[in-house]
Amino acid sequence: MTSEEGFVTTTTASTTADAGALDLPLVQHWISGAASAGSGDRAADVYDPATGKRTKTVALASPGDVNAAVAAAKAAFPAWRDTSLARRTTILFKFRQLLDERKGELAEIITAEHGKVVSDALGEVSRGQEVVELACGINHLVKGAFTENASTKIDVYSIRQPLGVVSIISPFNFPAMVPMWFFPVAIAAGNTVVLKPSEKDPSAANFIARLWKDAGLPDGVFNVLHGDKVAVDGLLTHPDVASVSFVGSTPIAKYVYETGTAHGKRVQALGGAKNHMLVLPDADLDLAADAAVNAGFGSAGERCMAVSALVAVDSVADELIAKIKDRVATLRTGDGRRGCDMGPLVTGAHRDKVTGYVDAGVTEGAELVIDGREVVPDGDADGFWLGPTLFDKVGTDMSIYTDEIFGPVLSVVRVESYAEGLDLINANKYGNGVAIFTNDGGAARKFRNEVQVGMIGINVPVPVPVAYFSFGGWKQSLFGDTHAHGVEGVHFFTRGKVVTERWLDPSHGGLNLGFPQND
Ligand code: NAD
Repeated sequence: MTSEEGFVTTTTASTTADAGALDLPLVQHWISGAASAGSGDRAADVYDPATGKRTKTVALASPGDVNAAVAAAKAAFPAWRDTSLARRTTILFKFRQLLDERKGELAEIITAEHGKVVSDALGEVSRGQEVVELACGINHLVKGAFTENASTKIDVYSIRQPLGVVSIISPFNFPAMVPMWFFPVAIAAGNTVVLKPSEKDPSAANFIARLWKDAGLPDGVFNVLHGDKVAVDGLLTHPDVASVSFVGSTPIAKYVYETGTAHGKRVQALGGAKNHMLVLPDADLDLAADAAVNAGFGSAGERCMAVSALVAVDSVADELIAKIKDRVATLRTGDGRRGCDMGPLVTGAHRDKVTGYVDAGVTEGAELVIDGREVVPDGDADGFWLGPTLFDKVGTDMSIYTDEIFGPVLSVVRVESYAEGLDLINANKYGNGVAIFTNDGGAARKFRNEVQVGMIGINVPVPVPVAYFSFGGWKQSLFGDTHAHGVEGVHFFTRGKVVTERWLDPSHGGLNLGFPQND
């Protein structure tokens, strides 16, 4: 990343996080097609989690910066909504091509600020790209319906129109993919966007903004506003923002939903998760052990679809745990640029919080099978390390079970039956993802029907739906009615109109003050 590319420039004294950060680059806002330092005097530190060093600062928006970003999006809206679908999709195809060509660079930016290993970052970009590809076919998705002669000589048809300025507020754990759940569809449908990324890993958003510009997107259609609660509150209450697509922790998702809807906005707010993996006695335990390790420790457990509770039915627990132990012994935790399997946690504070849960699990009486606190990382000693951690005999009243830890901590809960496992999963306040491992099609089918969770994997550990289906959880994992991308995403970013139409011909209407009836 260089200043020549327009998305990072050298700090100025007024926008640094503190005096010691004077020489660090500043990640700026991106408003109306150009980097902007904004008018605020606050900034936050950005770290390389694998070294523990501050590498950049990021501007934190003032209320004036929120107004500037929204005004840019508002100004760009009339022309963009009137741009033909053919022209819009030409730009989308170009964006898709640039993203595909430069996804390696984007993955490296993600690794440098988030810490996930480069191959995992590449996977995140690829899954986001799927939504861009979905949006390239927006023509088909916004097509209305037409009924000729619904009443005598009266035709009825439906159309879908964009909302206006839409806002996206995203979490740290997928700095590219989560924004891409929303903005490709929003832009393709004719909206203009203000994206507020996580302040922990802000640079991916600016890289993406630059790609949009290079793809020919008119200035102001895609804006990036960096910041914290001030920026979020500004968007939630701004009269010119039509909708809010939020992804983050449950308390903030609830707050965003309540505040945004109170201000008349359409809101989809995706929250936290505690994802279970139910392993039945007839499961292929090698497949289940692979899945538990991949889904429990991939991205250091910092995925909303990570498996954090392994529910082992009946006799399988001992054998499954032995297989997991064997596999974890082969994993290398370290710098994501060195070909390791698992990277660091995103910040020192988050690492300490997760380590605190490991301490609590021991105190509360769970059996610590693998202690990630003892990890010897392949990386800088000051990185935010915690190795894969496995607990057995976890009780459902222990904090390692009740709380979303968001780290590489996997808890085995032993149950005696399918029914006990199902009840436990359904009693959980979250309902994002779940997986069942079994070779019994009937059991899997029953589970699919009875489990109260939005996304289900059957012998698949991280069941993130493909882009043409919709992503979203149940219960406290989603506030609002509409899931992300797929047909639901198109509905979220458009409003329906129905037109009932008659063209003059030799007949006439005649007077009738009764309620219109069709004949
Ligand atoms: P977070 O809730 O701390 O932050 C999310 C966004 O909200 C960020 O942009 C942040 O700047 C903003 N924010 C933080 N505190 C705020 C406040 N007090 N007021 C207003 N805005 C605030 O979440 P995070 O730590 O960045 O991400 C991890 C969380 O996101 C986990 O709980 C994870 O499960 C969840 N997540 C959920 C999904 C899903 O699809 N359901 C996907 C990814 C992540």
